Amino acid sequence: MGNESVKNIQRILQENGYDLGIWGIDGVLGRATKNALMQFQKDSNVKADGIAGTITLRELMFLKFPNFESREFSCKCKGKYCRGFPSEPDENLISLLEKIRGAAGGKPLIINSAIRCEKHNEASGGEPGSLHLKGLAADIRIPGISIRDLRKICIRMNSNGGCGISYKDFVHVDVGSKRIW
Ligand SMILES: [Zn+2]
Repeated sequence: MGNESVKNIQRILQENGYDLGIWGIDGVLGRATKNALMQFQKDSNVKADGIAGTITLRELMFLKFPNFESREFSCKCKGKYCRGFPSEPDENLISLLEKIRGAAGGKPLIINSAIRCEKHNEASGGEPGSLHLKGLAADIRIPGISIRDLRKICIRMNSNGGCGISYKDFVHVDVGSKRIW
């Protein structure tokens, strides 16, 4: 039995080489798991308190995506209006970006803008209620691939969400409803 969300955390820790002791993935936040979590927090420059808070859970999720880091998804207002994460990056969005990156030949994918706070969204000309506010959208480019070609790749890989050219030099992708422009 044990707690499912604890098991999920334990699974990620174990898969990434953190020692859970003799109990393994048991769904219980015991001493070995807490030590493993604190070691992970130290390695990730997160306050090592052994508590799976918002920042720790975000960093654990990013262990699944070796080609991306959480800071690439933060709001780009540079602390003017928010502290970077007024919402959390959606796991399906990051999976989609991994797929697009792979389909484009594994070249580095640059995220111009992912999460935005309300004020930064407004200041950067985003639509009110934009999916960027909820961590569900990213504006991307891949050096060496034209925007038109990247748009085609995105449309092919993103069967359920939105795709289109934004600000001329970026392709917007989101995991909202199916829209193409
Ligand atoms: Zn902001």
